[in-house]
Amino acid sequence: MTTEYDVVVVGAGILGLATAYHIKRENPDKEVLVVEKRSAAGQGNTAKSAAMFRCFFYSNINLLLTSSTVDFYQHLQEELNVDLKIRWTGYLWLFSREKYEKIRPVLAEMSKMGLEYKIYETEELENTIGIKTCFEGDEEAKLMGLEEAHVGIFIPKAGSLDVDALVNFYASKFVEMGGKIQFSTEVKSLIVEPEHPLGIPGEPYFWQNPIVRGIHTNNGSIRAKTTVLAAGAWIPTLLDQLGIECYIKPKKRQIFCVKASTEQLRKLLYAKDFGPEGCIPFTILPKPSVYFKPAIEEEAFWISYGDEFPRAFLLEEEPQPEENFYEYGIYQVLVKYFPQFMGQKPYSAFAGLYAINTLDGQPLIFKENGLIVVGGASGSGIMKADAIGRIAAALYREEKYAELFGGKKFRVSDLGLKKRRITPEKFII
Ligand SMILES: Cc1cc2nc3c(=O)[nH]c(=O)nc-3n(C[C@H](O)[C@H](O)[C@H](O)COP(=O)(O)OP(=O)(O)OC[C@H]3O[C@@H](n4cnc5c(N)ncnc54)[C@H](O)[C@@H]3O)c2cc1C
Repeated sequence: MTTEYDVVVVGAGILGLATAYHIKRENPDKEVLVVEKRSAAGQGNTAKSAAMFRCFFYSNINLLLTSSTVDFYQHLQEELNVDLKIRWTGYLWLFSREKYEKIRPVLAEMSKMGLEYKIYETEELENTIGIKTCFEGDEEAKLMGLEEAHVGIFIPKAGSLDVDALVNFYASKFVEMGGKIQFSTEVKSLIVEPEHPLGIPGEPYFWQNPIVRGIHTNNGSIRAKTTVLAAGAWIPTLLDQLGIECYIKPKKRQIFCVKASTEQLRKLLYAKDFGPEGCIPFTILPKPSVYFKPAIEEEAFWISYGDEFPRAFLLEEEPQPEENFYEYGIYQVLVKYFPQFMGQKPYSAFAGLYAINTLDGQPLIFKENGLIVVGGASGSGIMKADAIGRIAAALYREEKYAELFGGKKFRVSDLGLKKRRITPEKFII
């Protein structure tokens, strides 16, 4: 059966849902359909996220995308009573003295921009979180190339939220407005037709201005005036068929969950000196930057590391965590700084895929031959989702600027391919 919609969005991850929500909100008369191959919303890499956010970046683009998004989430929670379970845990970034001296000028500029942070000196770090800050005489630590943790930068405007609640907000509001979501529907390819069909066999031909007119799925074809591809790490599989380059590549990321099962670990988890949550912030160790999240609701730590070379770009439907990655990788680094973790094994673990934009790590929102592509959020799709949805909706309406939550304007083409304009980030994990 063939049906025609104004807009069909491929993928009910956080980016597809935020996009569908804003398109429908701004164009209530349009028929908008989201299709998703899984049986529920937000079950792709959105479900694998650590759900952390921070509004502390050097680059203007990162700041705008995250601040407006997080402000919107805060507005939902505090003014509209949508319980996103936001926890203002903060981020604690640990540096060697040498690295800190290098980053100081950047921090000074960020301070002038009005961004807040607090410095923790070595002794304070030792007292508040019991971290080992000196590896003198530790041959193993030297062999491993571990940098010492002399200075901590605490960022208060940062924390975590409940991704399921966020997914549920966008999906349910979209449906309330009259949008439709069709699950268990896998897009196999995109319908490409000439802008003005002539009925010639085998069209479109190159002189006919070919455009995307919908999707071919396992449940039949669905025609649409505009197709939005928000299929996360799977975007290239549909674009490669059409020869469209999008610079998005999948890379596995793993999270290991360790219970705060000892008195020492509970003391670490509930470290008092930081934000209003009465727990240790999301903590990023010096190089190699193993990091962990305080998962208070589970009385646990979620621990991870974003390995690059020689980790392959590999698209897997259900990537699996690797035991050795924890045991011989993360654990070995972690216990050098936090001996509290000695002997601790994960009680659960999971893995997902970052959809990495290999150009610059920023999201991609562009239109080509009638197709809108929304993706490549790399490791920060949750904290930027609302802004991305608004920018994609502005692109749909062919507007030059999107209005982000709070009223700031964002030039849509800055995240496109042809007139892309990105300021490099100097403050990254
Ligand atoms: C381990 C890990 C930790 C992370 N931590 C954070 C964090 O702390 N903070 C943060 O901001 N971000 C984090 N991220 C990144 C964040 O999860 C992603 O940027 C975000 O979820 C991407 O959303 P998406 O909608 O683009 O992708 P997805 O959630 O993957 O959604 C794409 C959807 O498209 C569907 N789909 C794919 N192909 C088809 C098809 N052919 N037909 C129909 N449907 C299709 C998929 O099933 C999926 O549901 C993390 C990611 C990982 C893997």
